[in-house]
Amino acid sequence: MMASGIPELYGSLVFNDSVMRDKLPKDVYQALRKTIENHTHLELDVANSVAVAMKEWAVENGATHFTHWFQPMTGFTAEKHDSFISPVGGGQVVMDFSGKELVKGEPDASSFPSGGLRATFEARGYTAWDPTSPAFIKDRTLYIPTAFCSYSGEALDKKTPLLRSMETLDREAVKILHLLGQRDVEGVSATIGPEQEYFLVDKEIYKQRKDLIFTGRTLLGAMPPKGQEMEDHYFGALKPRVSAFMHDLDEALWKLGIPAKTKHNEVAPAQHELAPVFDTANVAVDHNQLTMEMMKKVADKHGLTCLLHEKPFEGINGSGKHNNWSLITNTGVNLLNPGRTPAANIQFLVFLMAVIKAVDEYADLMRISVASAGNDHRLGANEAPPAIVSIFLGDELTAVLDSIENDTFFGKQQKVQMETGATVLPHFFKDNTDRNRTSPFAFTGNKFEFRMPGSSLSVAGPNIVLNTAVAEALRQFYEELKDIPESRMEEAVHALVKRAIAKHRRIIFNGNGYTDEWVREAKKRGLYNLRSTPEALACFTSQKNLELFTRHHIFTEQEIVSRYEILLENYCKTIHIEAQTMQDMVRSQFLPALRCYIDQITGSIRGIKAVSEALPSAASEKLLAALCDSYERICDAEEHLEADTKNAEGIDDMQEAAFFYRGTLIPGMEALRAMADAVERYLPENLLPYPSYEKLLFSV
Ligand code: ADP
Ligand code: MG
Repeated sequence: MMASGIPELYGSLVFNDSVMRDKLPKDVYQALRKTIENHTHLELDVANSVAVAMKEWAVENGATHFTHWFQPMTGFTAEKHDSFISPVGGGQVVMDFSGKELVKGEPDASSFPSGGLRATFEARGYTAWDPTSPAFIKDRTLYIPTAFCSYSGEALDKKTPLLRSMETLDREAVKILHLLGQRDVEGVSATIGPEQEYFLVDKEIYKQRKDLIFTGRTLLGAMPPKGQEMEDHYFGALKPRVSAFMHDLDEALWKLGIPAKTKHNEVAPAQHELAPVFDTANVAVDHNQLTMEMMKKVADKHGLTCLLHEKPFEGINGSGKHNNWSLITNTGVNLLNPGRTPAANIQFLVFLMAVIKAVDEYADLMRISVASAGNDHRLGANEAPPAIVSIFLGDELTAVLDSIENDTFFGKQQKVQMETGATVLPHFFKDNTDRNRTSPFAFTGNKFEFRMPGSSLSVAGPNIVLNTAVAEALRQFYEELKDIPESRMEEAVHALVKRAIAKHRRIIFNGNGYTDEWVREAKKRGLYNLRSTPEALACFTSQKNLELFTRHHIFTEQEIVSRYEILLENYCKTIHIEAQTMQDMVRSQFLPALRCYIDQITGSIRGIKAVSEALPSAASEKLLAALCDSYERICDAEEHLEADTKNAEGIDDMQEAAFFYRGTLIPGMEALRAMADAVERYLPENLLPYPSYEKLLFSV
């Protein structure tokens, strides 16, 4: 691919705005734009006309099929393909696609998780076209982004509540902007830039590990002599195979109109990151789902396997997904841009304060939105933020808020010139604040970066919570300010921020989030510390959370309960599969290998003795004793785990089961692993029945 061809390549498989303008009759194009921008309802004749143009374009670009593409509660995407062909008699077909087929699909919903929302006999589910996310072509199929709901209209997916939350936020933000005198603003969108971390391992090596195949992470495996301690992988030069993969991935993503921008090696060996340019929340979520899929696909072509699990390897960093979030008006203003004088920027202060209030009041929901069995291994493990949600604001903004709270004058900080000590280097100004990598929710100049999501998560969840909680904060601010005359607005906002900062100051923490002192301090401040998924999920259905979601029509109470059950069930199933896989590997792979080694040493000692009783064999006997002892203990631990797994299966109450998995099975697995890993260091390489960490991490 010639670099000069990239602008033409970019978005070439997307039914984007310029294609629409080109292909659609003018009035249809305008009607569609109105729907996209103002969320107005789309008439069927418009849909019919769009369908014709879409099909023509898709067929011209090689597509034979179309699919409604949706995001059920599995966390993955789903699709069912139909061809465009339509028989016209005489053994002939035409390529056909109607407005009805574009706007509505009817996949059988009974095999998707619904958390009891829908009995299996009520199988009907609908997919509805989401015109705000562009259709695209992949593998000769036209993909139409859709929302997925049940016969009675309950959301069965992640897109529907995300769209609802974006509309609520839009409405509340516009209301308050009008109050603040910004009457030209007609719409506000949440923007997201999700940075995606991942691992690449050799495919042939991957295929020899049952744990990776069944669970996405290694359940056994001793660290090699070298891990990430030399800090030589982060931003390191790309190896040729990785570089070739990244080039292909970029091209595949660009064709789909996904603005892949930044790529680099991450901290752990074999770990990498990709960041796109941000987009509106809905499009960014769709793009992130596609990015994860393309990562796997392109990796496969390169003889690699892409691991998106939050913690594929013990002893080195796991992978996260940083959710960069901001608000943009239809007039192009970033509402979280402090400008040159944040202290005087009341619009910025209102929105900043709304985010702080939202995160403080719904910190439990923020935590819940990233809760999964995989992510529990990361949070609080000195590689990712702790499970305690707090906000990093940086020195300047903290000083601004302090001055408001204490009625002191905020002297504007001078920009500081960067001192490199070398005159040949260009001169530039420093940022007003350094970065803080340990904060779960950090202000980074003109946006917030939520760093808790795990790498495999759909970012729909965190953004549903964030959008809704901020909308609620803005709603309350609006209620406080709505009767204030414009001449006194600045003073009133000042007073409001002053009250709010006093109330929510506890959520702000600029220090090191990885320390034990912070855990103690957070407890004193009354912040949540929901360390595991079952603990976190228990808060999901609290009164305040039900009220938030139902007030803004994001979820009905039933929808919340159903999601709570899906999450719990998913957690239990994940650990159940892990426990079973581990038992299988220990029983049929690890223990036989250990047995084999024990036999070899036994034979060797016998051989030595046969030559002469006088020859020394103490070291071999000592090793043999240690191995035999380990063998017994590993057998015991494995049996224990087996029994606990049976017990877990017998627990009917899902919450009780989740706590049992958390409190009994996970420690059981950890203990078993510790014993096996300790022995693995002694096993001869040729006896280890699956590839070692060394091979997994250092062979690409
Ligand atoms: P870092 O690694 O320093 O956090 P990156 O440049 O890798 O920074 O990623 C920053 C991410 O934030 C990018 O995806 C970028 O597009 C996104 N971003 C920048 N501005 C905004 C914004 N206004 N809203 C949402 N995301 C943004
Ligand atoms: Mg980042």
